[in-house]
Amino acid sequence: RAKEVGRNTFQFFTPEQASQSRERFELERDLRQAVERGELRLVYQPQADCATGRIVGVEALVRWQHPTRGLVPPDRFIPLAEEIGLISKIGAWVLNAACAQAYQWEKQGRSLRIAVNLSGQQISRDGLVELVREVLGTTGLSPTQLELEITEGHLLQRVEQCIATLRDLKSLGVTLAIDDFGTGYSSLSYLKKLPVDRLKIDRSFVEGIPDDRDDVAIVATILSMARNLGLDVIAEGVENETQLTHLRGARCAEYQGYLLSRPVSPAELEALLDATT
Ligand code: C2E
Ligand code: MG
Ligand code: MG
Ligand code: MG
Repeated sequence: RAKEVGRNTFQFFTPEQASQSRERFELERDLRQAVERGELRLVYQPQADCATGRIVGVEALVRWQHPTRGLVPPDRFIPLAEEIGLISKIGAWVLNAACAQAYQWEKQGRSLRIAVNLSGQQISRDGLVELVREVLGTTGLSPTQLELEITEGHLLQRVEQCIATLRDLKSLGVTLAIDDFGTGYSSLSYLKKLPVDRLKIDRSFVEGIPDDRDDVAIVATILSMARNLGLDVIAEGVENETQLTHLRGARCAEYQGYLLSRPVSPAELEALLDATT
């Protein structure tokens, strides 16, 4: 019977599907070697104070420079890395590289908070707290300068265990942010239980301000909730002055987005810092 199904499936395996599966196979094969081959790098997107415009932090975003395919975006290889068990290796590389860079900036007198994205699997597996402690130790970065970003979706499974991990991370002295806030399904009582410091308003809500009334209301609600819960807030995906003016008026503390800068190389970030201070 399996053979029959197999044969039928084969019949419906179009040339397009065949090339898709081949591409996936090759990406998978190449991704396994990307770290050793030095094909991963980090770009940094600045985060600024809405009121003063001063750059206060950066988010590290991973890039894969594939030898023949060019730049592969994280949305394409991070999920693949999770599927094939490579995310802890890549995640460890990212954390180490980001902290080393932030420490270097610190030594140059450019003190910046650095935000690093965590994948769901990194949180639910053992060893994350040890990894963070070790990386802080070897790079010399102060824990207070490191922020770890998680999404609501990452915390849906094994909630109690995740919360315990987050508490352990916090006890190292790092801060925690909820990425893409508002797109998940977390209830308010759940949010209360999470030991987080900052909400990152998802860019899908920022996109609609000031014309979309619903987006304006959602952003206002998140801001007032954050204020009442004592959480910091940053708006993601700010692309124009009108959005920034609105956020400033609504007393949003910080923003990040193409208006300020796209994610850039360390040298470009340094130039930006020099130009703005
Ligand atoms: P994210 O953490 O929410 O990062 C923000 C994404 O929005 C980035 O895409 C950034 O380039 C993009 N962005 C920033 N400003 C604007 C804007 O004004 N307009 C628009 N349209 N987009 C903007 P990127 O770098 O492609 O990363 C996509 C996602 O991949 C990230 O979303 C994050 O979830 C994941 N990711 C990136 N680096 C890492 C990493 O090192 N580890 C893990 N686990 N995930 C990562
Ligand atoms: Mg992020
Ligand atoms: Mg985000
Ligand atoms: Mg995202």
